[in-house]
Amino acid sequence: MSSDITSEHLNALKNMVDKNGWDHVDNGAQYFDDPRGRFHGNGQIILRPVSTKEVSQIVGYCNDQRLAIIPYGGGTGVVAGQLSIDNKNVIILSLERMNKVRELSIDDETITVDAGCILENIHTAAEDKNFIFPLSMASKGSCQIGGNLATNAGGLQVLRYGNARDLCLGIEAVLPDGSIYSDLNPLRKNNTGYDLRNLLIGSEGTLGIITAATLTLKPQPTEVLTSFCAVPNVKAALVVLKRLRAKLGDTVSAIELLSNIGLKIVSQHFDQCKSPLNTHSDWYLLIEVAGSRALQPDLETVLAGLFEEDYLKDVVIATSGAQREKLWQLRELMAEANKAEGAICSSDTAVPLSKISDFIDDTVSEVSKVHSELRINSYGHIGDGNIHHNVFPPLGESKVDFVKKNSDVVVDLRMAINEATASNTGSISAEHGVGRLKVDDLERYADPVKVKIMRQIKDALDPHNILNPGVLLK
Ligand SMILES: Cc1cc2nc3c(=O)[nH]c(=O)nc-3n(C[C@H](O)[C@H](O)[C@H](O)COP(=O)(O)OP(=O)(O)OC[C@H]3O[C@@H](n4cnc5c(N)ncnc54)[C@H](O)[C@@H]3O)c2cc1C
Repeated sequence: MSSDITSEHLNALKNMVDKNGWDHVDNGAQYFDDPRGRFHGNGQIILRPVSTKEVSQIVGYCNDQRLAIIPYGGGTGVVAGQLSIDNKNVIILSLERMNKVRELSIDDETITVDAGCILENIHTAAEDKNFIFPLSMASKGSCQIGGNLATNAGGLQVLRYGNARDLCLGIEAVLPDGSIYSDLNPLRKNNTGYDLRNLLIGSEGTLGIITAATLTLKPQPTEVLTSFCAVPNVKAALVVLKRLRAKLGDTVSAIELLSNIGLKIVSQHFDQCKSPLNTHSDWYLLIEVAGSRALQPDLETVLAGLFEEDYLKDVVIATSGAQREKLWQLRELMAEANKAEGAICSSDTAVPLSKISDFIDDTVSEVSKVHSELRINSYGHIGDGNIHHNVFPPLGESKVDFVKKNSDVVVDLRMAINEATASNTGSISAEHGVGRLKVDDLERYADPVKVKIMRQIKDALDPHNILNPGVLLK
């Protein structure tokens, strides 16, 4: 149990940073907002250190005084890991001023960055030197690499490049006792005992504050092709994925499933978003292929074959950068469109590829048991088995009124989707993490031995439970 934060504590903390290094919570509404508008965070002060040394001093002091800290990145997390919902007695520690590229090594094909670097800025720095940093998601303009690593974020190119964990070679972090763990190296091989880097990645700010990372860069592809297709059903979408991978191998860098309802919603809420196809279908695929050889003939051959066999109903391939961007907007603006449409539930679970079609059918069936007129937009990273289900009130009803009338609906929907996930041998969190939102779900669905060991690790590294209390574990 952490201690109450007194004015003496606040004064001591203010003295550890410069005049821009702290703020009153009254001036920082943005630190307490949930991107999906469901929760409100709390805190006593916002600290914005500029160096690992300052972070270390703050954490060491908080550990001595038993004060709770919420590590804060870009604030785009969607499982309330960065928001202290119930406990006001916390310190917000934002990494935003630690935002420099420390080094880009052309020889090692790595970039070493402060944890507060915005993901999109890392893309730009890599592209300036003819590389790419392939971790990408719709929140790239706000999320920080520290937050990406803390949540082991996934996104749009996991199929080809893996998730945040797979792109990180080295890490620097301040541990709960204030000590600095420094392992920023570009080694591809390093078998020297327990893997602390991978323990910190995905620990959602409960075991350490990530202050910097060495990331692996990839060669910039010379050809990038983006295609939008109408598919008759989800099973056909999986055939498309398989055929593309068989012919084009690892050049397939993204394959995203969109539903007809999703396409309608995104075009209703964003004028610039229109389907590029005249054919209507229940399902669509956004495909990206990228590499350093001429890929268009192979892509066209595969798509033509799939069309002949009725696995595709219609296809378009972008012919310019502007067209590519327009196709991607259909996918990247989906999260905002769901919010604008009044989603009462937004899930993030994963199942094996072989079970995706059954999983979607089972979810629709489970959700209709909660209420028969709910609408579902199922979409996402089909190549990773990671489908997001967004559920909306019946047509004509507002979210607020519907939830007021059906007070259990939010929890019931989450459980309905969890059950459909579990019966298809899936995971209750694919890429967003557990945060404060899914702590009970983790306890219910995870292997009990895993939860027991997680507790032991937390107790060993953070015996006073000062780092992000309430996240991952009760
Ligand atoms: C529109 C939209 C689209 C999204 N798309 C995707 C997607 O495709 N794939 C995906 O995986 N996620 C997605 N997300 C979720 C979110 O962007 C990711 O979880 C992201 O990695 C969070 O980064 P952040 O910097 O915003 O972290 P925050 O939201 O600030 O924090 C997230 C968690 O990490 C901890 N944390 C933050 N920084 C640090 C640090 N330096 N050290 C230790 N702990 C830290 C926080 O305490 C919290 O528990 C999306 C979110 C939005 C709003």
